[in-house]
Amino acid sequence: MKAAVCEAFAKPLVVKEMPEPSVGPGEVLIRMKGCGVCHSDLHLVDGDWADWGTPLPIIPGHEVTGVVEKAGEQVAGLKPGDRVGVPWMQYACGVCPACRSGAEMLCAAQKSTGVTVHGGYAEWVKAPAAFTHRIPEGLDLVDAAPLLCAGITVFSPLRRAGNLAGKTVAVAGIGGLGHLGIRMAAAMGAHVVAITRGGDKKDLAHELGAHEVIDSGKEKAGKQLARIGGADLILLTGISAQLFEECIPGLGPNGTLVVLAAIAEAAKVIPAALLTGQKRIEGSVIGTRNDMDAMLTFAADHGIAPIVERHPLSAVNDVLERMRRGKIRLRAVLTP
Ligand SMILES: [Zn+2]
Ligand SMILES: [Zn+2]
Repeated sequence: MKAAVCEAFAKPLVVKEMPEPSVGPGEVLIRMKGCGVCHSDLHLVDGDWADWGTPLPIIPGHEVTGVVEKAGEQVAGLKPGDRVGVPWMQYACGVCPACRSGAEMLCAAQKSTGVTVHGGYAEWVKAPAAFTHRIPEGLDLVDAAPLLCAGITVFSPLRRAGNLAGKTVAVAGIGGLGHLGIRMAAAMGAHVVAITRGGDKKDLAHELGAHEVIDSGKEKAGKQLARIGGADLILLTGISAQLFEECIPGLGPNGTLVVLAAIAEAAKVIPAALLTGQKRIEGSVIGTRNDMDAMLTFAADHGIAPIVERHPLSAVNDVLERMRRGKIRLRAVLTP
């Protein structure tokens, strides 16, 4: 099968023939239809996460959608022809304290698609049926691919926050994650404030469902948010330590800033600024399998499809290079 393979970090991927995966008990073989290109893929390929123990060579890609071709022994509930998605989490042990508490995405023994096991930059992908998700009818298989990471990443903290009707939710950064965050928060009934730098995504933000748009290039985002009463929840999707710092004063009483972007630079926080108003800063990674199924149903019911640009698998290095230079407007999806 054709696959894009990371053979060495900080080198272009090699598009080449690889053996088709053979499915074992409990696994399904999937014909890939779409695989989103997530910023995490860039970190992996560039070697930023080299100490995570990624075995080389590895096929990246953890936003995979496709059609089941073959179900291995002991697979119940999935059959050839089923439309499915394979996300980042491909195994959790089920017995560690994190798993037993219901937070399986924090399992230390987790296997990660495209990071510790082969992922979706390939014509064929195999995955355990237990960590494979049905894609509801009504979602296009190619467009839906980014839901498997970007979608779940923004959905989980929104779902955890409870009833958002009438609450102010700010989404900082309008990219792969942010554009879905705006749509989902709006569909949940929140008053949505989009935060973006410059004016070129202002109209898009309104089309996605934002009720207000803040230009963080004009004045600090937090100041502008505070002026309109502060946010109950801020989803930080932009990879910027400065934006992180700017968001904190924009939290209203009991407000929560959720960090969803892998910002690796240092940022300054004045602890007393959290004390008054009982503000919180928290991190959030993907979600549980239950969150994923709920998100996919929610997306289908509300017509929330990612806005994607499609590229053939063979163009993967161009796509990664454009992402490095910040030239992917929202999300790129590879097709076979
Ligand atoms: Zn991702
Ligand atoms: Zn576990």
